Amino acid sequence: MPDHECAVAFDFDGTLIQNGPLNLDKGVHIIFASWYACRRTRLNDFLGAGADALTARMVDAYIRYPGSPRFEQFSAIVNALVNHVPDSVASFDGFVLGEEYREAYAEARQIYNRVYSGLNDAAADRFWKPYVSVKAFLHRLAGVYDLFIASGVTQDILEKDFARHGFDRGCFSAIHGGNTAGGNDKGEILKMLKRRGYMDLLFVADSNKDLEYAEIAAVKFYRIRADADYRRLAGMLPGTFPDERETWEFEPFEIDFFQTKSLYLIGTYQDVENLPFIDMSGYINT
Ligand SMILES: [Mg+2]
Repeated sequence: MPDHECAVAFDFDGTLIQNGPLNLDKGVHIIFASWYACRRTRLNDFLGAGADALTARMVDAYIRYPGSPRFEQFSAIVNALVNHVPDSVASFDGFVLGEEYREAYAEARQIYNRVYSGLNDAAADRFWKPYVSVKAFLHRLAGVYDLFIASGVTQDILEKDFARHGFDRGCFSAIHGGNTAGGNDKGEILKMLKRRGYMDLLFVADSNKDLEYAEIAAVKFYRIRADADYRRLAGMLPGTFPDERETWEFEPFEIDFFQTKSLYLIGTYQDVENLPFIDMSGYINT
């Protein structure tokens, strides 16, 4: 049963945690890991058009799926590479490729998963930090609302990151991540929380995709983009939940960041067997 009448759910990455000084490094991780995975499998057949143009296509796919589960992001990027279509697909069959690529895609998913996690681990140790105001804010709110985490990160990684960044488990009623099959997305988690019967439910998160999840689950939404957004929210809560639904575009400098950093990493590391994740993360974030 709920302890309080209303609840606040927080996304994790990019919301409680600032992913690097610009909160952008995960996008570069996803784009590079996708390219590298294709490069090292038969999907390399589709990388002939030149890294510059192909990176632009990968960026275009990525920016439609920030905040989505990692394999959904990967499928959108692969689709952009092989079919010029920047939309995710549910399974290999969605690409309508020859059978000779089925095994390559399965293999590429594994390589992508390993490289993406490697880059994330390197960044988490050095560049990912909770927003400055976040822990005090959570402590204050925990006495007033039931607090949850609703993240697209898989449950095991989420629990590890939660502990690594020293969050207080006692502040939260529960911590919900995705499952490794790519299920239990944030929309499902929010719907499940809603069924607990809260009078009001607010989702605090950082991407347009998160806003879609909030709309699907019919809960309120508040966007975090900088620490100042927590200070603004602290001025409103406890109180009536805000509901800020305007979507937003990535800024030109953000697109440029994804493109430039990814292109450099591709040029430097696409054929390197043992990737130096710490060096790569340092390059992305400095
Ligand atoms: Mg996020």
